[in-house]
Amino acid sequence: MRKYSSKINKIRTFALSLIFIGFIVMYGGIFFRKSPILMTIFMIIGLLFIIASTVVYFWIGMLSTKTVQIVCPNCKKVTKMLGRVDMCMYCNEPLTLDPELEGKEFDEKYNRKRNRK
Ligand SMILES: [Zn+2]
Repeated sequence: MRKYSSKINKIRTFALSLIFIGFIVMYGGIFFRKSPILMTIFMIIGLLFIIASTVVYFWIGMLSTKTVQIVCPNCKKVTKMLGRVDMCMYCNEPLTLDPELEGKEFDEKYNRKRNRK
């Protein structure tokens, strides 16, 4: 069985890894301090990663306004879901807003447009 996680959590992990990559690249620039051009390039690339992560965080903020707050039937916590099917942020319980899909095996492809009627 594939492991799923809540979409927002996934995007958050992605944004966080962008920050780490940015810092690693910038740190890598220190090793080229004898060459100001290389160091500048490393610093700019690192900065771009950090800017990208800011954009992703901003995107999460935008997405959060579209989420639906529901009480998870499994852990009884209030969780947010995005799209037609998503996972509980706490216990990874599959959730759906569509009664047609209730009880069916969780599949992220239900979120794609071509599967909609
Ligand atoms: Zn839950």
